[in-house]
Amino acid sequence: MKYVSTRGLSEPRSFKEAVIEGLARDGGLLVPENVPDFSSRLEELKELSYQDLALQIFLPFVNGELDENTLKQLINKSYQSFNHKEITPLRFTNSVAILELFHGPTLAFKDIALQFLGNLFEYLLGSSGTGLNIIGATSGDTGSAAIHGVRGKKGISIFMLHPKGKVSPIQEKQMTTVLDENVVNIAIEGTFDDAQRIVKDLFNDLEYKDQHSLGAVNSINWVRVMAQIVYYFYAAFRFQEYNPDQPLVFSVPTGNFGDIFAGYLARKMGLPIEKLILATNENDILYRVMTTGQYKIQQVHSTISPSMDIQISSNFERFLYDLVGKDAEEIRSMMGKLASKKEFKISSQQLDDARNIFHPARISAEQTLATIAKYHKEGYTMDPHTAVGVAAAEQSSYSHVICLATAHPAKFSDAVSKATGEEPDIPELLEGILKKPSQCQASSQDVKEIKEIIDRKLSSQ
Ligand SMILES: *Cc1c(COP(=O)(O)O)cnc(C)c1O
Repeated sequence: MKYVSTRGLSEPRSFKEAVIEGLARDGGLLVPENVPDFSSRLEELKELSYQDLALQIFLPFVNGELDENTLKQLINKSYQSFNHKEITPLRFTNSVAILELFHGPTLAFKDIALQFLGNLFEYLLGSSGTGLNIIGATSGDTGSAAIHGVRGKKGISIFMLHPKGKVSPIQEKQMTTVLDENVVNIAIEGTFDDAQRIVKDLFNDLEYKDQHSLGAVNSINWVRVMAQIVYYFYAAFRFQEYNPDQPLVFSVPTGNFGDIFAGYLARKMGLPIEKLILATNENDILYRVMTTGQYKIQQVHSTISPSMDIQISSNFERFLYDLVGKDAEEIRSMMGKLASKKEFKISSQQLDDARNIFHPARISAEQTLATIAKYHKEGYTMDPHTAVGVAAAEQSSYSHVICLATAHPAKFSDAVSKATGEEPDIPELLEGILKKPSQCQASSQDVKEIKEIIDRKLSSQ
């Protein structure tokens, strides 16, 4: 299988090339030319453990470039760091099912992909002898999950940009208290979108990218999306054991459209998902495009679900590519308008097609807090991102929705205690973290300054 750019101006890539390259050289996102069809294999896949299911799902995407045994070992190693034997357990409450994705080392769903990506990078570099410098931007959780995915790994350095003061104190400490030599934290003036733009600028500076062997861990990296497909299948199978006659509806708290795009792919691969509820906070660009057809960038608001405080939703381009019938020229025209006018429109037919799959919802801070409080009374404590998805499910006409729980409530204890009047239980992993020594550098939004930080670090090695 080859990976092609949504903008159509780069040569197709192999799986390994796609992993290392991250963003396509024409500024587009890499997507598999076609997706495998699992619809006739569902019965067989139901029986598998999480790890064995992951292996079956990855195999066609990896397309023989890694042998099966190597891939199996990488998967098993990646999920050993999780503290639940089912990796992503499904819990049933009275009204919704909750898919807990936060049992990894940084207590957010991004560990699921980034533990694997870290091990995969190490393996691929080990066999090629070259080094890799990972550059990423984070609204909080990607940063810590990526840092924990590659800390101490040979041949890899990581430079992680976060918007200064706009990630939660625990999120910040989860990044900055990792003191390994190969980890550099950079706090920039500005928002997550500014950080993401700097990273894209570095990647689009092809000379710089090649000279510095830049690699990506943001969900522009195909592997992030691929690894997230697994839990849609896994959860659907567990759900169907108890609710054999209910349609499959997932609710996904959404920011960069990576997580929900994995659900879209699971559906395309033959998992009978009826609807994907696309839940946003007040940063509602995806809600607006799915209701009006207009994708228009506005100000970013700081909310109590900061990992979703995003206006430019990178992975949406991957879905758009399908929506326009894989017409790369059309994507280039849309992205050109986005760059020059900060907006573009999809046709009413395209809007209908998108609405067939996605049900958009926009959830306010009040609704989020009320949802946390309500479930807490019933005995389940959830984080504010999860609550956005749960509120969206409750507001919809669907019952028995599978809601993705994307972070542990202790990561966002301010919002949780505001809603419930009690501090959430602190898991062992976070105990004492606020007092640990940390390392971080400050920078403006100037790409030149970021380049200087990178160069200084690399020349000191
Ligand atoms: C990253 C993140 C999200 C949003 O996921 P996307 O793939 O960016 O849509 C939601 N919740 C939490 C806790 C996150 O860390």
